[in-house]
Amino acid sequence: MPVKGLGPYDDQNVFAKILRGEIPCHKVFENEWALAFHDIAPQAPIHVLVIPRTPHISIADFTANASDAEIAGFFKAVASVAKQLELETPGYRTLTNMGEHAGQEVPHFHVHLLAGRPLGGRLVAS
Ligand code: AMP
Repeated sequence: MPVKGLGPYDDQNVFAKILRGEIPCHKVFENEWALAFHDIAPQAPIHVLVIPRTPHISIADFTANASDAEIAGFFKAVASVAKQLELETPGYRTLTNMGEHAGQEVPHFHVHLLAGRPLGGRLVAS
């Protein structure tokens, strides 16, 4: 069920529980700004989610309300995950869903990192 990308943060969302260690994840990277783990329903041979440690619902909430250090640290972490997984050649795609029309399901900001096969040119579903 898609969620709104703005509004009060729900600390019972699944990624908040992963951050608190209440439910497991298949971790691939972590630092002070971000945690990255494999998506439970991968849509490409490599499908990793990168999430900030701070409680923000969406990219809109994160960029409006996180500190500059948190924003820089997070986006650098996204690129670091891709580099660590050796995805820079032949390449990868990053994507974030914000709000209902994008189909955002988890109300904790996350970037999808997709790779492992040619991903095609289509960005918009019909
Ligand atoms: P979005 O639609 O952008 O909110 O994407 C949410 C993503 O979270 C989906 O790709 C789900 O497969 C993934 N997901 C949901 N629960 C878990 C979980 N417990 N561990 C890993 N990935 C999850």
